[in-house]
Amino acid sequence: MQTAKDLKEYRAELREALDNEFLRQAMDKFAVAYRGSRAKAFAGMDLKGLIADVAQAKDGAAQRMDELLSEFTAKAEAAGVKVHVARTALEANEIIAAIAKENGVKKIVKSKSMTAEEIHLNDHLEGQGYEVTETDLGEWIIQLRHEGPTHMVMPAIHLSRYQVADLFSEVTQQKQEVDIEKLVKVARRELRPKYVEADMGISGANVAVAETGSLGMITNEGNGRLVTTLPRVHVALVGLDKLTATLRDALRIIRVLPRNATGQAISSYVTWIKGCVECAPAPGGKKVHHIVFLDNGRRALARDPLFSQVLRCVRCGACANVCPVYRLVGGHKYGHIYIGAIGLILTYFFHGRDKAKNLVQNCINCGSCKDVCAAGIDLPLLIKEIHARIQDEEGHPVPSTLLAKVLKNRKLFHTLLRSAKLAQKPLASGGFIRHLPMIFSKEQNFRALPAIAPKAFRDLWPRIRPEVKGARLKVALFSGCVQDFVYPEQSVAAVNVVAGRGAALDFPMEQSCCGLPVMMMGEMAAARDVAQQNISALDPAKYDYILTLCASCASHLKHGYQKLLGNDPSWAVRAKQFADKVIDFSSFARDVLKLAPEDFRPGGGTATYHAPCHLCRGLGVIEAPRDLLRIAGVEYKPAEEEDVCCGFGGTFSIKFPELSAELLAKKLANAEATGAGTLVTDCPGCVMQLRGGLERKGSPMRVRHMAEILAQQIK
Ligand code: SF4
Ligand code: SF4
Repeated sequence: MQTAKDLKEYRAELREALDNEFLRQAMDKFAVAYRGSRAKAFAGMDLKGLIADVAQAKDGAAQRMDELLSEFTAKAEAAGVKVHVARTALEANEIIAAIAKENGVKKIVKSKSMTAEEIHLNDHLEGQGYEVTETDLGEWIIQLRHEGPTHMVMPAIHLSRYQVADLFSEVTQQKQEVDIEKLVKVARRELRPKYVEADMGISGANVAVAETGSLGMITNEGNGRLVTTLPRVHVALVGLDKLTATLRDALRIIRVLPRNATGQAISSYVTWIKGCVECAPAPGGKKVHHIVFLDNGRRALARDPLFSQVLRCVRCGACANVCPVYRLVGGHKYGHIYIGAIGLILTYFFHGRDKAKNLVQNCINCGSCKDVCAAGIDLPLLIKEIHARIQDEEGHPVPSTLLAKVLKNRKLFHTLLRSAKLAQKPLASGGFIRHLPMIFSKEQNFRALPAIAPKAFRDLWPRIRPEVKGARLKVALFSGCVQDFVYPEQSVAAVNVVAGRGAALDFPMEQSCCGLPVMMMGEMAAARDVAQQNISALDPAKYDYILTLCASCASHLKHGYQKLLGNDPSWAVRAKQFADKVIDFSSFARDVLKLAPEDFRPGGGTATYHAPCHLCRGLGVIEAPRDLLRIAGVEYKPAEEEDVCCGFGGTFSIKFPELSAELLAKKLANAEATGAGTLVTDCPGCVMQLRGGLERKGSPMRVRHMAEILAQQIK
């Protein structure tokens, strides 16, 4: 597969994918249906417990990889199997080709295997003159089209039935009807003879159980069984990460995998293979059975304290199913061989930096993948870490180095923001920049950009600081740069809501940007530096709560700081104390201030809600904002997909404006379809995106931060 040489070329490819109307519709349909069927499949189950069990089992297996391999090998070889270990992709290809040669193989059938895709096995075998036929329907289709999979579980999801009918007509030299059932029958008719003629079957495996020496495969089409039983030689290509210690661990994986992959309680076939079974065409009536374990970097990954969690992956594909970016552009543009969130990571380890460097920048950090991962992998964090590693290896781009320098110096950063306020004067009116400078105007035109406020919140604070006598709580307000310099009215609204309710608010002036933008740009050293500055400014020992109105800041202060500083003995304890005090505005208003309907005036109008990614997934705050709307006398009108990203993502919307615009358009269409007068959210970044989009559309819908709604309604 070709790889874009730089971000410019990659973005051109993304635009091409965005123009593919069928792909967009198919992905949308699938994403919506998947959420429903996954929820149904896990109904009544302890999903968190299951995920924790899988993570524990896989982590344990990764740490004992060589021990489990020896145990597996001893058991499998006692049952007549020959076990091989390939250190690299090339070695695996050569071992399999040698097995084919020594057994006089000419024709090979294959069942679906991402590991085989990883090592480009078909290309290698075909290059040596073997006829290789994929037998999974989706894999066969993409093999005929000479392209790679666009999803780990559904490799041909990007194709319409019309395209498949045309393809099958060409292959069979006969006009085929555009009817899915009939097309499946065509595939079955074409493929059946291939199994009978084949000398060798190649499969993957979902699990390799050390205590029994057996392989487990879960499939839906039955082709896996035909591939592994009919031909006289069977080769299973298995990543070392598929080893599990016990059958019990394997069954845990099998419980989660189909439910998480496609929302099925169980796949149509669960096949267990142990030893050389009887096989009529084989010499001596016994099948020749080889298992090739693939390392290709897995052993090194197992030793990496941060990245070893990658080996927990069970290849369910759920991290792609929920990814808003994958949903827009499809797998050919959101991965190399492996796709989706895990694909961005594995591409770096299995296929190299060059293939990964553009991909890892295309993550909006929405956290959806982490939320559904069958093995609890912190995918967004790992993606950011790889981005940072690549920048460390290749050199940091000028804009991110500059931003890192500026953010580390709070005074300089704030001086620049104040200067920008003066510079924008001829361009700004009504809170927006009306005439964007040429470098921005075309690409950023999908939303109006806000102007810097006439007075920053920090300049208003000395005048509006409420006097509180006998306060029961001491609360530090962390504003984040957007609320400080662009939307100070949101922080003022929060002050008005909190004032007189027994909490003494403080606004420590030494606070700076939370540092998330530099972390997103791969500037980890600057992100750590800024985190330390903020922890020093908002000393957790002095406050009961550290309150923030910005969902992204809140999530970063609470979770990000501990990840950045957790390994630094001089900061780890303070980072944890700090994190424990951080609270988002909605949770504070509902659970700490305990605001009740009698605190509010009636007649708050109608509102729908956008759930910021970092609030609903980052902090797990789901109900508090919706409860508050009802408590504040606002008629809440739920929108479709309230918790799907609005497309802001900080620097993401500047790097990938075409994707940001699409996500925003969908979000606004869903909000407007409710007929509500106001769109409420809990994050100034989301306010910026949503308000700018509605302004560009000329929509009468207003966007308000939750604090503004509460301040407007409070008695
Ligand atoms: S964080 Fe969001 S955008 Fe990034 S890979 Fe995960 S789902 Fe996709
Ligand atoms: S990373 Fe998690 S969600 Fe993605 S394929 Fe692997 S197990 Fe599934």
